[in-house]
Amino acid sequence: MERHRALGEQLPPLTVHEAAVEADRCLYCYDAPCTHACPTHIDIPKFIKKIATRNLRGSAQTIYAANLLGATCARVCPVQELCEGACVLNAEHKPIAIGRLQRYAMDYAKAGGVKPKARGVAAGAARKIAVVGAGPAGLSCAGELAMRGHEVTVFEKRELPGGLSTYGIIGLREPVDVAIDEARMIESLGVRIKTGVEFGKDVTLEQARAEFDAIVLSVGLGATPALGIPGEEAIVDGLAYIEMSKTNAASLRVGRNVVVIGAGNTAVDCATIAKRLGAERVTIVYRRTVREMTCYAHEYQFVLSEGIEFRFLAQPCGVVMRDGEVAGLECLRVELGEPDATGRPAPVVVAGSEFVIEADQVVKAVGQVRPALAAAMGLKTEKGYIAVSADFETSVAGVYAIGDCIRARGAASTVMAVQDGKLAAEALHAKLGAVAAVAEVR
Ligand code: SF4
Repeated sequence: MERHRALGEQLPPLTVHEAAVEADRCLYCYDAPCTHACPTHIDIPKFIKKIATRNLRGSAQTIYAANLLGATCARVCPVQELCEGACVLNAEHKPIAIGRLQRYAMDYAKAGGVKPKARGVAAGAARKIAVVGAGPAGLSCAGELAMRGHEVTVFEKRELPGGLSTYGIIGLREPVDVAIDEARMIESLGVRIKTGVEFGKDVTLEQARAEFDAIVLSVGLGATPALGIPGEEAIVDGLAYIEMSKTNAASLRVGRNVVVIGAGNTAVDCATIAKRLGAERVTIVYRRTVREMTCYAHEYQFVLSEGIEFRFLAQPCGVVMRDGEVAGLECLRVELGEPDATGRPAPVVVAGSEFVIEADQVVKAVGQVRPALAAAMGLKTEKGYIAVSADFETSVAGVYAIGDCIRARGAASTVMAVQDGKLAAEALHAKLGAVAAVAEVR
């Protein structure tokens, strides 16, 4: 229970008074920059106005009209970089707390059983569609299709739906029950979610093609790549570390002196978990500098405030073992050279510069490998990601792909995945010949 509390949701919900005061600060801008900055284009002034007038049902419907996963996005979106970063009040006072207001409206929707309004569909136009993967992209797509009258089945290989929202984002930002409740809401729209079913194994492509009119792949990415260093088998996988902290925190072993390899949001989450669950010292090791880190700037500031240390310009080259236990991480000093294929300065190892960072636990969070399913299904790829047309169709007719598995350009994020799901559903609906009459949200 102690551990559960240590990783409980970081910010409390707004009180009725706080929400009213915050909503009243909004200027309800015409052509609002916050809405432009939202990848799903939620009508932000409209939903805030409805909070101000105590029309919480209408506020939730305004959010649902653009984004079925508003509860997740309210918590995990980098609002500082998106809507709140664009708020005109940044210049004068402080931006509207858009994320927290959205959470307020979505909490109301959950408590009151408010469901999105159906998007209309012509009689007889319904199709059978399979969605592979119950992460944010898959759930968004499945919900949007079901709301247009289609018969949607989601195949999810894990035990629980939600993808990274359930398993891969620290509970501080999104507790498991938020992700599960959202998946249940999508089910309530008529979507069937079959968990424990692995596409390509339990259901083959041929079987799916015979049964469904279209297949949408929302398979995310693969496992954490190997570092290829001696002693790697003693390193803990970062995604498994986060998953354990969310689903079985009591059993998660946390060292006293923890080193986390990586510089993205997963590394930041792992370091935070270690610190909050009792590690005395946590060090993030990264082979470039703070300027090249891929985590959000506010996440970097957050982990600094948690007392987490950084060791920049250090490249791991081996795990130091003593009596069968991890005793440290051996690294080489690095200097930055010319830009590499990623456009960032390439780390150049300084010969003979080995040093050891003492640690009794090493965690790696160095990204994820590209989707394996692409090769298995013979799909065309771009930089290892599934290649798709403007309508999200892959090189195989009738097979679509959305979310992180297609993100060859730009940074992957939950909200982009949700938008992919929405746009793919619209494209698929149009292509399958159904006539949509999108309900006006009042
Ligand atoms: Fe309100 Fe800020 Fe958006 Fe303007 S930019 S509508 S003040 S949240």
